[in-house]
Amino acid sequence: MRIGFIGLGNMGGPMAANLVKAGHDVAAFDMSKEAVERAVAAGARAHNSAADAAGDAEAVVTMLPAGQHVRQVYLGDNGLLKTAGKGALFIDSSTIDVATARDVHAAAKAARLDFVDAPVSGGVGGAAAGTLTFMVGGEEAAFGRAKPILEKMGKNIFHAGGAGNGQAAKICNNMLLAISMIGTCEAFVLAEKLGLDHETLFKISSTASGQCWSLTSYCPVPGPVPASPANRNYEPGFTASMMLKDLKLAQGAAQAAGAATPLGAEATALYTLFESAGVGARDFSGIIQLLRGNLRA
Ligand code: NAD
Repeated sequence: MRIGFIGLGNMGGPMAANLVKAGHDVAAFDMSKEAVERAVAAGARAHNSAADAAGDAEAVVTMLPAGQHVRQVYLGDNGLLKTAGKGALFIDSSTIDVATARDVHAAAKAARLDFVDAPVSGGVGGAAAGTLTFMVGGEEAAFGRAKPILEKMGKNIFHAGGAGNGQAAKICNNMLLAISMIGTCEAFVLAEKLGLDHETLFKISSTASGQCWSLTSYCPVPGPVPASPANRNYEPGFTASMMLKDLKLAQGAAQAAGAATPLGAEATALYTLFESAGVGARDFSGIIQLLRGNLRA
């Protein structure tokens, strides 16, 4: 299949490389020359603009930083929805606001083009290994067309419902994760003050009602889960800045939809404090250092 790939950064680069490995003919574009060079080294063909890369493609994947970039690439002067060939399928895997995703869906529908929002979780490691989770919003038929392509880059492909629901699923999940991580950190900090050691709390809570993924798979203190970032000085993993980006998207969506998310708001404030201390590049589980009051940049 001829696939256009636009946005070849930390995530898009390895995702495009997996499409090449699967035998697709990948036409690549990024504003960064170095990113395009890396994609060419992985077997993609270089193009000079997004419109050019998408030109005669049967499917186009975009993996861009934020909503404004997606808006520009799809809806701008020389935007993909204006220049696309008939019948092309568009997959946006960037993490962006629900409103922009729904605007692009509406514009694609008006142009009679298939579009899905398909944000991912799994990080750079998952992108390289081809084990990402995709949360997809869009019509059933468009999902059906996108699935075999997404399966070359990921392991779990979920249809989350209509336009924008992929983005909705992603921010709801990450807001829950931030809240559960902060809760887990607070429990360990309180245990430290009370003289209860980490291993004992872990053993009890991981089989009791406090059990959650932040505790048993990504424990924020060193020891109980050897693979967690706490064991390597909170090297990411998933950076606190990325988590803050997703929390801000969740807060924006909550305000627009009239949903009360008081703990999501508190989590956003705590990660903002963490980032303002100059340590946003640390893993998000490092928030325990802020709660202990021993954060050092
Ligand atoms: P990145 O900054 O490494 O890559 C983005 C790329 O897009 C850059 O190479 C940039 O040059 C390019 N770009 C920007 N505007 C462009 C335009 N108009 N035309 C063409 N190229 C353009 O970011 P990333 O880490 O690859 O993340 C991409 C998306 O995936 C983000 O929305 C992010 O939130 C999401 N995400 C990232 C991770 C992660 O761990 N890095 C995990 C899950 C989701």
